[in-house]
Amino acid sequence: MLVVMEHGASAADVDRVCAVVKELGYEARPMPGAQRTAVGIVGNDGRIDASRLAALPGVVQIIHVTQPYKQVSREWRAEDTIVTIAPGVSFGGNEVPIIAGPCSVESEEQIVESARIVKEAGGTALRGGAFKPRSSPYAFQGLGKRGLELLALARRETGLPIVTEAMDDEGAHLVAEMGDCIQIGARNMQNYSLLKTVGRLGKPVLLKRGMAATISDLLLSAEYILSEGNPNIILCERGVRSFDPAARNLLDLTAIPIVHRLSHLPIIADPSHGTGLRDKVTPMARAALAAGADGVIIEMHPNPDRALSDGAQSLYPDQFRALVEELRAVAVAIGRRVTAAPASEEGKEPDRILSSGTAHRVVGKH
Ligand code: PEP
Ligand code: MN
Repeated sequence: MLVVMEHGASAADVDRVCAVVKELGYEARPMPGAQRTAVGIVGNDGRIDASRLAALPGVVQIIHVTQPYKQVSREWRAEDTIVTIAPGVSFGGNEVPIIAGPCSVESEEQIVESARIVKEAGGTALRGGAFKPRSSPYAFQGLGKRGLELLALARRETGLPIVTEAMDDEGAHLVAEMGDCIQIGARNMQNYSLLKTVGRLGKPVLLKRGMAATISDLLLSAEYILSEGNPNIILCERGVRSFDPAARNLLDLTAIPIVHRLSHLPIIADPSHGTGLRDKVTPMARAALAAGADGVIIEMHPNPDRALSDGAQSLYPDQFRALVEELRAVAVAIGRRVTAAPASEEGKEPDRILSSGTAHRVVGKH
């Protein structure tokens, strides 16, 4: 439930509403907006007596949030949330970042070379898994903490912020310390204790859609993170399982405008896992941007034929360079712009923790 205050409501009016909400046994979240303040009520299971609040001075309207998810909904917050993972790299605004890199961090040479290719081609951020959720326990599991150290090295060389996956609490703390954005993979989208942990860490989170998750399931998982106090969530459409083996997954691009209508959170697309085949990645990346995605995440490997994971869907460096050019053109055609990479941080501390936060976007997208 949301209590909307009058345009000129005083701070005392807002305080009084919060006090009554607390008295009723719920938590009040005042949210000052451009036009007026709203007070969100957390923990409302439907039994709250709205008439007590409606009669208070300064209250103009009571809105019942009809969706099972509350704080991620557009009803709760009308303005788009902008998630900043590093200075100049934001999701949900007019600019669209391109995250790219290999599926897994394999060696110093491989990740540093990948980062250089991404940077020179015009990509914005570096991906690469140090902790790998593999379907088989016998497949390459990632380099673990050493992989994070190599990512930090690649960031120092190129300035590209790091997006990398965590699979458990310990990994989440490590990624929060050494990376810029914690990826929660499809297989962990409903790992609720991990979602609570990253909610408490406050670091930006890239939350991927589960293979058999509905859009409502995805938004409820995001709600877990937000309800722990972390609003820095970037959603990611990465395809769902389908009956058709022609592609690895069915990349659901309809999810992008649907999420934009239902939620204020940004959503990006992953056409690499969404298709599983490198010749399908470029057309679907173009389509994702055209559909309104707030960014893309692309697997690119300096030598895909020798990749330790997901080689078949990894672009060759030349294909990635061509893709960035095409995405720039698509972005311009819809009044947006691909985000330039931040300047190199060579000479700076590799393990600094970057600030993050939310802001209101200026240009509408839906
Ligand atoms: C990945 O990004 O390499 C990955 C494992 O993705 P997903 O969780 O979408 O399968
Ligand atoms: Mn992969």
